[in-house]
Amino acid sequence: MKYLGIQPARPKVAVFDFTGCEGCELQLANKEASLGAFLASVEVVNFREISSEARDDYAIAFIDGCISRDDEVKRLQAIRGRAEVLVAMGSCACFGGVHRMKNAFDLAEANAEVYGDAPKETSPVRAVKEVVPVDLEIPGCPVSKAEIERIVQHVVLGVPFAFPVYPVCVDCKHQFTTCMFEHGELCLGPITRAGCGAPCPAGGLGCWGCRGPSEDCNIEEFRALAAERGFEARELTERLAFFGGFEELR
Ligand code: SF4
Ligand code: SF4
Ligand code: SF4
Repeated sequence: MKYLGIQPARPKVAVFDFTGCEGCELQLANKEASLGAFLASVEVVNFREISSEARDDYAIAFIDGCISRDDEVKRLQAIRGRAEVLVAMGSCACFGGVHRMKNAFDLAEANAEVYGDAPKETSPVRAVKEVVPVDLEIPGCPVSKAEIERIVQHVVLGVPFAFPVYPVCVDCKHQFTTCMFEHGELCLGPITRAGCGAPCPAGGLGCWGCRGPSEDCNIEEFRALAAERGFEARELTERLAFFGGFEELR
């Protein structure tokens, strides 16, 4: 596949799943209209969801999921050792995702409550960057199909990719979505990084902040605004904790 008459490099790519629902890697594979172009622009050498290939000669490794067991730490370190570029894909990989909520509990107690006499090995949830160096983070639960396709194009062509610096509200305004915050729904859109296309407000829900904070977001001002509109501090704190992206700001 040529671009401007130039044959781009076809990098060897691998996708690996850790603790997560595997929904982010499914985003790479779930649209037949563009799957062919994706497969033509990269050489997939290891991607359990779509291929029986399981080679270790990859240049780019996409990591789906967070790290919640010791064996995952060792596996991730081995992948980092082989990959030239390591990409954290999705909110689980970037922030710990919904799994990070378990860190607020006593793990032994929670394990016994869920698994009774057959406890499972588990450790506090960590984002990928808390275990190994990460070259690029792509947030979202799941990642946006359109955005990850653009990123793959940029990587293949060797062109730097820039995420939007503005909040989700701008995505809403672009598509004339009725503001849910104005209609009494708690919405983290004013402090969350855009780029998802604001599907939650378009579907009648407030934003839950799965993409983490937008650049220079003013969380204190947002807290004051939410309080002014009658939302309890506890409700806001719980929502900020949901995907783990606001942990450093809460
Ligand atoms: S970020 Fe969401 S969609 Fe992606 S693996 Fe985690 S839970 Fe699944
Ligand atoms: S619905 Fe939320 S994200 Fe959309 S404009 Fe209103 S506050 Fe912003
Ligand atoms: S609107 Fe908010 S919760 Fe929904 S996909 Fe976008 S960032 Fe995530």
